[in-house]
Amino acid sequence: MTTEILSVKDGVEKAAKILLSGGIVAMPTETVYGLAADGTNSAAVKKIFEVKGRPSDNPLIAHVHKDYDVSALVHIRQDYVYDLIKAYMPGPLTLVMESKGVICKEAVAGGDTLAIRMPSHEGCQKLLRAVNIPLVAPSANLSKHTSPVSAEHVFNDLNGKIPLILDGGRCSGGIESTVLDVTGNVPRILRAGLITREMVEKIAGGCEIAEHKEGDKVKSPGVKYRHYRPKCDTALFEIDETDKAAALYETELARGRTPYIMCSDDVAEKFKGKNLLLLGKGGDEIAFNLYDKLLDGEKKADIIIAVAFGRCDGVYLGIMNRLKKSCG
Ligand code: AMP
Ligand code: MG
Repeated sequence: MTTEILSVKDGVEKAAKILLSGGIVAMPTETVYGLAADGTNSAAVKKIFEVKGRPSDNPLIAHVHKDYDVSALVHIRQDYVYDLIKAYMPGPLTLVMESKGVICKEAVAGGDTLAIRMPSHEGCQKLLRAVNIPLVAPSANLSKHTSPVSAEHVFNDLNGKIPLILDGGRCSGGIESTVLDVTGNVPRILRAGLITREMVEKIAGGCEIAEHKEGDKVKSPGVKYRHYRPKCDTALFEIDETDKAAALYETELARGRTPYIMCSDDVAEKFKGKNLLLLGKGGDEIAFNLYDKLLDGEKKADIIIAVAFGRCDGVYLGIMNRLKKSCG
């Protein structure tokens, strides 16, 4: 199979046609690129799991356009859900609710709940409108690899495996959506992202963070897997361990290997003269750059030596979750 890359403008009709006849297509969103299928078509959904090599117990998120009646897919049991939808959707927020069973069981991994998201990316909205059905989509990468934030990243992983990549440019968000369980009295973050705990609290009055401990029956299966890994070796240091990071860099060099330091602009000075993957400054910019720098780094480094940021609040919670899984 040859994999075509078309701009949204040139490819949206073709993509819709493929999706409506049971095929799969990569689509842009504001978080990362997704690999989409008709959520009501079991055979189409199975193709996603096959192509990615994704474990079948890890459910998919259903994406809908912004005028889609979500209550056709799920039971909304909590009043605060309406406020969250009004405040943050379309946007990088995914809500987990009780499913009405419209989306096939393969997509929800046989569970009773369904995760729903309304992407704000204009090209994605165009596609969702053209099909006017919920599209289930995980990130458009091979399972466990770093998530793609450009059409080229998708091509590098899935060339020859899917017919079409809709190119909607570089993703503006850079890390996956916040997955929020809204079945209980208080919303619970299952996966941290760009919609932060503080932002949810402001609207819903409270917000818990699910702890996923070893051996727990996890509520969001995806969080238990090794994830987001670049193809090269990695190491992760805290912000007060820049000396250790620099020492490892020198050791690697002495072994004849090519190390790269990945850090924020704030500590770049400490690594002057070294190979650098700079993430920029501040949470939003670091999130935007993280996967792009990991995917750039794996092409030229034998080892990426990442340095953390000394914070876990706001967007940094999601960033640190990804950084620990990709480099820790
Ligand atoms: P990905 O599409 O690769 O970004 O992964 C989607 C994430 O959403 C994974 O962590 C899934 O486990 C999670 N997810 C999807 N559907 C559900 C659901 N019904 N309940 C809980 N978590 C879900
Ligand atoms: Mg993924």
